[in-house]
Amino acid sequence: MILILDSTIQSNDQRLELLQSHLRQLPNIKIKLHQVTGSQQTLHEIYLIGDTHRLDEAEICALDGVERVIRISSDYRILGRHDSDQRSNGFSYQGIRFSQDSLQIFAGLCAVDTAEHVDQMMAAVAAEGLQCTRMGAYKPRTNPYSFQGHGASCLPWVFESAGRHGIKVIAMEVTHESHITEIEQALAAAGDPCGVIMQVGTRNTQNFELLKALGRQRRFPVLLKRGFGITLDESINAAEYLASEGNDQVIFCLRGVKTNLGDPHRNLVDFAHVPAVKDQTRMPVCIDPSHSVGRRHQSQDGILDLLHATAQGVIAGANMILIDFHPDPATALVDGAQALTLAELPRFVEDVRLTRAAYEQRVALYKN
Ligand code: PEP
Ligand code: MN
Repeated sequence: MILILDSTIQSNDQRLELLQSHLRQLPNIKIKLHQVTGSQQTLHEIYLIGDTHRLDEAEICALDGVERVIRISSDYRILGRHDSDQRSNGFSYQGIRFSQDSLQIFAGLCAVDTAEHVDQMMAAVAAEGLQCTRMGAYKPRTNPYSFQGHGASCLPWVFESAGRHGIKVIAMEVTHESHITEIEQALAAAGDPCGVIMQVGTRNTQNFELLKALGRQRRFPVLLKRGFGITLDESINAAEYLASEGNDQVIFCLRGVKTNLGDPHRNLVDFAHVPAVKDQTRMPVCIDPSHSVGRRHQSQDGILDLLHATAQGVIAGANMILIDFHPDPATALVDGAQALTLAELPRFVEDVRLTRAAYEQRVALYKN
């Protein structure tokens, strides 16, 4: 059972103390306080766990400080949608809205290689009026002898470049808890020029200790990639780990699943799950066409199949696109074969705009 508290209640409020001590006395019930950080204020929710079916909803609702009561009807207690759940979804970060109604483009480098390429990428993104990018510093690779990313050493010039080009948010994969501190320190040393969304890669979707560490910090939102060989339910449960530790600023990313049934694509594209994830949870949903399709193949109609897949995700209501670009894909150290060029960025942005408009028209068509 979730108790949504009166929005005037603050962390040090006497009413919050009284309410919690009352609830602690309920038999076979454990309570957990959860803070929802909004752009204007911090809201409080209390989760009652245990024998809640015996509780009288009206009685709980009448307690001082309780505004609404939601019965939990899904395993995903915090991120899930429950029956009669009118809670809002999404969050704002660095002044940018991430929700099930917004759409943000994160075009950028799969892996940071040279300072020059980082600069060219940031300039191209900024020229399109975009404020977000992707930059891989820590790269989990299948082969131990492959380039593993520059790690912490590239962070100073990546963040400096972001600041210079007015880029507000960088999606950056972390593969170890220590990377959170490295990023924090590099941001501070650079004067906090931008924000970072911490990406959990598909190889780490069920790295529960990493999830717990990312969940314990609330400074950085997290983009969780769907696991490539597990069910959707298992991946959403992984997202719930982040929230259960305290960080509910989570974006869920579809990136295809590994099976030869997806041939000739790198993975089986799973963007039909965009509405399914939005239906089951309150998370914004991202698509990663680059790692799903994995190649630049031109279809019969003259459009790259990578772009067809992007359009499929956007027209299904995706809220974020994570996509590989590179100033010179032939020299990219990771995933050059799937990277779009900077010259292709303006038309890509226009294509997304057209497809998003079609999605909005579809929503209007089915309203009422
Ligand atoms: C990436 O986005 O750079 C990446 C490695 O993706 P995934 O974890 O989906 O393979
Ligand atoms: Mn990649």
